Amino acid sequence: AAKHLGRNRFAYFSPAMQARAQERRRTSDELRQAVARGELQMHYQPIVELATGRIVKAEALLRWRHPERGWVSPVEFIPLAEETGLIFDIGEWVFRTAVSDAARWRGEGCEIQVSINVSPLQIAKGGASFARCMEFLASQRLPRHAIVIEVTEGTLLQHDRNVEERLRELEERGLALALDDFGTGYSSLSYLQQYRFEFLKIDRAFVGNMQTDSRQLALCRTIIAMAHTLGMRVISEGIGDEQAAELLRHAGCDYGQGFYFHQPMPAAPFEQLLRARDLPPALH
Ligand code: C2E
Ligand code: MG
Ligand code: MG
Ligand code: MG
Repeated sequence: AAKHLGRNRFAYFSPAMQARAQERRRTSDELRQAVARGELQMHYQPIVELATGRIVKAEALLRWRHPERGWVSPVEFIPLAEETGLIFDIGEWVFRTAVSDAARWRGEGCEIQVSINVSPLQIAKGGASFARCMEFLASQRLPRHAIVIEVTEGTLLQHDRNVEERLRELEERGLALALDDFGTGYSSLSYLQQYRFEFLKIDRAFVGNMQTDSRQLALCRTIIAMAHTLGMRVISEGIGDEQAAELLRHAGCDYGQGFYFHQPMPAAPFEQLLRARDLPPALH
């Protein structure tokens, strides 16, 4: 019977599955060392005010430069970081780095707002690392709403008392909240009533085929109108061409980001861009 079971198990965990599991284990070991080895980098994607074209915000997006594999996408390693609990250390590094960069830009007279992505676990279970982040934030003495925290619907789905408390704490400490990837998850409109989101981000899944799909455009218009009625401002992601930018501007969308405007880039070229553009209030 044992032999039989063994054979079944072998059949169940196919060689391909075993290889995949092994690969994930190796990647998570490497990810564990990535912070200490300086392999993580913060990139910034400019966010423009659609009415004026000014760069007024930037989204901090994490990049991992693997010694052999080159750039690894966050779509691949963030879920792994969440499964292994590495997200707390990584999230703390992201927070410190983005807040320090924001403080430096502010110090140079540039009133740019920096958006940071935060995983649901960091809010619900991030005890000590959450507290350290808040302490670091306080030490930087940034003006109110200099930092935006982007959370997904997944964060609000966790029926955890911590979530509500932590989101309120973020607000009390002067951070603005943005609801990311709106429309792709289990969008329950009750969240919008329960929490005070300053910004609603329309996922690029909606923005992508707006030009060819009139229903998609109608959805974007409806989301924008609803957000405005509730006192939120709207940021559209994934704007790929001028036509999309124009459609969204006409629909009253407040801000946009996308490859049509700018790709995410390291801090240094981002600073150069701000200087060259002389916008917003100059980094002389
Ligand atoms: P997100 O927060 O929705 O970020 C927007 C994603 O859309 C970014 O992908 C950005 O590069 C991409 N994007 C922006 N404009 C365009 C466009 O015009 N075309 C296309 N094709 N893509 C565009 P990225 O940087 O690969 O990040 C993917 C996701 O990984 C993020 O989605 C976010 O959920 C997660 N992520 C990234 N950095 C962090 C981080 O520091 N912490 C956490 N917890 N998650 C992060
Ligand atoms: Mg985001
Ligand atoms: Mg998003
Ligand atoms: Mg997204």
